[in-house]
Parts: sequence; structure tokens; C-alpha cells
Amino acid sequence: MARVVVVGSINMDLVTETDTFPRLGETLFGKRFAQYPGGKGANQAVAAARLGAEVTMIGCVGADAFGDAMKAMLVNEGVDTRWVSTGREATGIAAITLSAGDNAIVVVPGANHELSPADVDRAEQAFHDADVVLAQLEVPLATVRHAARVAHAYGKPFFLNPAPAVALPDELLELTTLLTPNEHELATALQTHGADWKAVLQRMPGRIAMTHGKDGAYYTTDDGDLQHQPGFAVQAVDTTGAGDTFNGALAAFWHLGVAEAMRRANAAGALSVTRAGAQGGMPTLSELERFLT
Ligand code: ADP
Repeated sequence: MARVVVVGSINMDLVTETDTFPRLGETLFGKRFAQYPGGKGANQAVAAARLGAEVTMIGCVGADAFGDAMKAMLVNEGVDTRWVSTGREATGIAAITLSAGDNAIVVVPGANHELSPADVDRAEQAFHDADVVLAQLEVPLATVRHAARVAHAYGKPFFLNPAPAVALPDELLELTTLLTPNEHELATALQTHGADWKAVLQRMPGRIAMTHGKDGAYYTTDDGDLQHQPGFAVQAVDTTGAGDTFNGALAAFWHLGVAEAMRRANAAGALSVTRAGAQGGMPTLSELERFLT
């Protein structure tokens, strides 16, 4: 069983469905409301845990009902929440309005922005015990960079899913064992807009796994060969969380080697899009094995 440490965000997604979007100053009745666990960190932690990894989450929630609910959800998924701290601000939320196929989203990071390098240091034992450390960019960059340094100090692979997309500082890039962007995030993270992404992958051999939707994913071997792991054809219902599922799976299966880990991550990503919701679609290990046989 792989031991995965996730350093990242924990959010509650608040989803409202309406017939029309409210105009400025307008109040209207919505049709439906639901809350879903979210945040890229929590999503990737759940994805890895469902696939059998032993997962420890390092994050920060508020002292409120959403924070309690998110921690309870993580515990229920088998994630170790010992290092989820409680901040002064409210638990991160995404307020999502859906109307006639469009969406409008407000994200309030709240307590996620309080996750500090000191929180990472407190969880040093988790880094010591880890097989893979996985981070995204919904918590402060200084904290992500510190996590990369600690992972490096312990000689542990550090995976960075550079989402949401920002230009990455050189030091963080150098400390990253494997960058896992989609095509858009690759161009932004490395500031290579307009360049052929295949050439960009070949510039960092062995260090990037790029997801490409239903086409699957690409990586470059240490000697510069571009490799394609094809995606699995499925009936897509909701692609939310496909990238998070891929990342959690990649970390969970990393010990099987890059090609097999990516094949399984593609399969997990494909299964995730056949069901609604980010975490709702994430497969268990037995579902994945059934799909692959
Ligand atoms: P993101 O959601 O971060 O943009 P992608 O859309 O590239 O990420 O999806 C991540 C992975 O999920 C892909 O590499 C692929 O394995 C899987 N995936 C995504 N969409 C589909 C789809 N429509 N059919 C099959 N697999 C998919």
C-alpha cells in the first residue's frame, strides 16, 4: 500500500441551480441547493484513499460546521486528518450557481490561505513515512514550496499538480519530481504559451505527466521519448474532478512504475467522468480492477 501525503486545499462546494442568473440587486428563487465536499487537496486525498493508498492530509479548515463536515468526510474515507489544522478564518467555499448549462463561481479560500510552512513542519513525521508527497496550488505558494523542500530533504518524490494555473518559481520547479498539468496549466506554469506542448514535455524529460482529457496523458521518458498513455472510452456525464482523480491515482500507483501508474490513473479518471460530482465519481480499487479486466 502506497503512503501518500497531500498538502492542499479543503473546501465545501455550495451549488445552487436557478432558471436565470440574478441581476445586480435582484433576489430570485433557486430550484435546488446541495453541498459537496471539494477543494483540489481534499479531492486528490479522497481519490488516492479510495484506490487503497494510506493517505495523510495536511490542510486547514475553519472552526465551523463546514470544517467539521469536511474533516468527518475525510476520516470516513480513511484519510488521516491529524495534520488538518483549524484556522481563524472560515472554511474555504466555492459558491457555484448553475443555470441553463452555464455557471458562475465565487471561491473564498478562507482558512486554506492560513496553511503555513509551520503547519508543514509540524507534520514532518508524515513526510518521513511517505512514499509520495502531492500538492496543488490552492494553498499559499510559500507553503507549497516549503513542502517541496521538506519532501526533498527526506528524499521523497514531490508531485505538483499546478492548478489553478500560475507561473511557477524556478526553485519550486527544480524541487518538483513530477509536474502534472493539463495542457493549459503546462503553458502557464512554464510560461511556454504558443510553444508546441510536445516540445515542452521533451525539455523536461521524466518530469512531466500531462493530462489531455479523453485522449489520456503524455510523458517523456528519461531519455527524451514522448510516450502516450491512451485514455479509456466512456460515456462522460460530468468531467468535474477528472484531473483530481488522475492525480490521486497517479500517486497511489506510483510504485508500479510511470507507465502502469499512468494507465491506471487514466482508467480512474475515465471512471470518474461517468458519474456526477467531483468525489462522487471517484472509483474504489475494486471498481478500478473490474474496469481494467
Ligand atoms: P483537468 O480536469 O485537470 O483538465 P483532464 O480533462 O485532462 O484534466 O482529465 C484528467 C484525466 O481524466 C485525463 O488524463 C483522462 O485520463 C481522464 N479523462 C478526462 N476526461 C475524460 C473523458 N471524457 N473520457 C475518458 N477519460 C477522461
